Amino acid sequence: MAGLAAALEVSSRGLPVVLHEAAGHAGGRCRSFFDKTLGCEIDNGNHLVLSGNSGVAAFVDQVGSAESFLDLPDACFPFVDLETDERWVIHPNRGRLPWWVFKSDRRIPGSRASDYLVALRLLAADKNATVDEIFGENANVYRRFWEPLAVAILNTPPTEACARLLWPVFAETFALGADACRPLIARQGLTDSFIDPALATLRERGADIRFGHGLRSLSKSESAVTELHFGDETINVAADDSIVLALPAAVLGSILPESAPPETFHPIVNVHFKHDASTVSNPLPPILGVIGGTADWIFCRGDILSVTVSAAVDLANAAADDIADATWRDIDRVLALNTPLRPATRVVKEKRATFAQTPENERRRANTRTNHKNLFLAGDWTNTGLPATIEGAVRSGFNAAKLIKKSH
Ligand SMILES: Cc1cc2nc3c(=O)[nH]c(=O)nc-3n(C[C@H](O)[C@H](O)[C@H](O)COP(=O)(O)OP(=O)(O)OC[C@H]3O[C@@H](n4cnc5c(N)ncnc54)[C@H](O)[C@@H]3O)c2cc1C
Repeated sequence: MAGLAAALEVSSRGLPVVLHEAAGHAGGRCRSFFDKTLGCEIDNGNHLVLSGNSGVAAFVDQVGSAESFLDLPDACFPFVDLETDERWVIHPNRGRLPWWVFKSDRRIPGSRASDYLVALRLLAADKNATVDEIFGENANVYRRFWEPLAVAILNTPPTEACARLLWPVFAETFALGADACRPLIARQGLTDSFIDPALATLRERGADIRFGHGLRSLSKSESAVTELHFGDETINVAADDSIVLALPAAVLGSILPESAPPETFHPIVNVHFKHDASTVSNPLPPILGVIGGTADWIFCRGDILSVTVSAAVDLANAAADDIADATWRDIDRVLALNTPLRPATRVVKEKRATFAQTPENERRRANTRTNHKNLFLAGDWTNTGLPATIEGAVRSGFNAAKLIKKSH
């Protein structure tokens, strides 16, 4: 997403673009693929984006894919607590003042407005403060609100996660009311909504897109990159060329070791089930939060029911069958399907889903600009001030493109 965003922004100004992608397809950690077991396209992971994500909105606008998202008029987040069997809906109001926190039917049972207003502590949070230190004192609301949100956003256990990274997310979404926190869910899948439209737009603008073209190394003078090495091919960098390395942190570390990017990562596990949607009488919510189960979130999209477990440090090491059994038990109970027999399943373990978003790694995030005048960095792990998300990746790409624009 970072590389595509950079390419889109640069090409929108009429500058020529060559995109080099190591894989045989685009999308990186945000893509769909055909799964033989399920006989359909699935996403590598359920991706939740909110309507207040301005970078994503600009990306979608540029590639013209707004129609490919579910049309959800309201921001409603149903939750189930499997330990107590309680159910509730977090329902932010329209308008800029978040008065929903004062309404008991729009928040967690037994919680008070002040339990949500503690978000303001993020504003003054020390750079070393963890999520657990900022929000941990009210166990009920922590377990049912702050912890699941923080884990979903930061993909890092709350005892390690850098609290400060949450502020921009809240300020740009939940704090601005329902219009900024409507879930933006791809109707068909990530590739259909983000990747294919971006590639089509780039091709229309004459971009040269090369798949199976992985960068191996760079040659540099003191002030600039002079050559790019791909397999046994070398490309000379012209005087007015600029390079954006939109690589995952782990790959960049081997190509540009002096950038010293984060070296620790956390997994996300997704489990996709193909069920017979016609057997369900009530419409299922597109997304549902689960407390006290193996699943964190359940996504319902037609015949595919999917579970996401973030910061799945232990689960990622479990056998796929055990993960599938445990998460199907959650789905069956939460959605009251009465189908204990597990349907066809695909477990996707993304071991390096994002870098571990700890205070220590926060200090290792690299700036867009480098010591080489024609070399710029992008990627969700770069120093955007945002968590490692699609929004962060897109904005990092736009940031790099803006610097290129200035240097031309
Ligand atoms: C399972 C899962 C669930 C997620 N859920 C969410 C969510 O709900 N909401 C959200 O906002 N974010 C979510 N994310 C995070 C989001 O997917 C990432 O932050 C984002 O996709 C990162 O984009 P990127 O461009 O920075 O990196 P990448 O997607 O990693 O892209 C890097 C690209 O570089 C290519 N590459 C690698 N090496 C080379 C080389 N040597 N030469 C050329 N190309 C190379 C790769 O093939 C890849 O295409 C999730 C991630 C995962 C894995």
